[in-house]
Amino acid sequence: MINVENLHKSFGDNEVLKGISNHIDEQEVVVVIGPSGSGKSTFLRCLNGLETATSGTIEIAGMALTDPKTNLHKLQQNVGMVFQQFNLFKHMTIMDNITIGPRKVLRRSREESEEIARDLLKKVGLYNKEASYPDELSGGQQQRVAIARALAMKPQVMLFDEPTSALDPEMVGEVLQVMKNLAKEGMTMVVVTHEMGFAREVGNRVIFMDDGVIVEEGKPSEIFTSAKEERTKSFLAKIL
Ligand code: ADP
Ligand code: MG
Repeated sequence: MINVENLHKSFGDNEVLKGISNHIDEQEVVVVIGPSGSGKSTFLRCLNGLETATSGTIEIAGMALTDPKTNLHKLQQNVGMVFQQFNLFKHMTIMDNITIGPRKVLRRSREESEEIARDLLKKVGLYNKEASYPDELSGGQQQRVAIARALAMKPQVMLFDEPTSALDPEMVGEVLQVMKNLAKEGMTMVVVTHEMGFAREVGNRVIFMDDGVIVEEGKPSEIFTSAKEERTKSFLAKIL
C-alpha cells in the first residue's frame, strides 16, 4: 500500500529526512516513534503530499507521489490525515465539517453526504452532535470529528500525527478506541504517537526514527523488550 525508497527532504540546507525506505502492507498498522525533531511529521507530510520530497520515490494507494504528473488532490482523497490540532472549521457545524469534502471534492449530493456523515458520527460515538460547532465540543470529541471528517473521503490509508498529544489525559482513551476500531476494520494506518499501550495492542510494527533516519524497526514486542540499537534503548528508557 505504501512504498518509500530513499526519501530525502531538506528545508534549505537542513536535511530533515536522510534516506527513508519502507514498505507498508495493506491493513498494516505502523507506529512511528522518535524524539522531537527527528522528522516524524515531515515523513507523514511527505506521504500525503503536504511536503514535496527533495529526492527519492513514494508510492501510496496506487499513486506515484513523486511523479509530477500525479494529481495531488486525488492523492489527498485517498490518504486521510489527522493532526495533533484537530484543524476543524470553526465557523461550520460538525455536519458541515464532515460533508464539505464529499460535497465539494467528490461532488456527492448533500443527502448522500449527510447519510455517510451520520454513519461516521455513530461510529465515533457522536451521533447527537451534528448541529454543534467545534467550540462546543471537548478536545476528544473534536478529534473524533476530525477522524470522521477524514474517513468521509473514503481514504485507503490513514495517517495520524500525534492525534492525542494535545488532549487532556481523560480524553486520550476515547480517541485511541476509535483508532483501534478502525484498525480492526482493516484500515492501513501510519500513526505517530507516544502511546505505547496503543502501539503494543494495535501496532503490527514499530518504527524508531532519529535524526532523519529509521534507526530500527520491528514488532512492538521486540522493540519494547529487546531493542538492538543504543539510540532506541535510550529513547525508550525515557518514555516507558
Ligand atoms: P518531529 O515531528 O519528529 O518532531 P519534524 O518533522 O516536525 O519532527 O521536524 C524535523 C525538523 O524539520 C525540525 O528541525 C524542524 O525544525 C524542521 N522543519 C519541519 N518543517 C519545516 C518547515 N516547514 N520549514 C523548515 N524547517 C522545518
Ligand atoms: Mg511532529
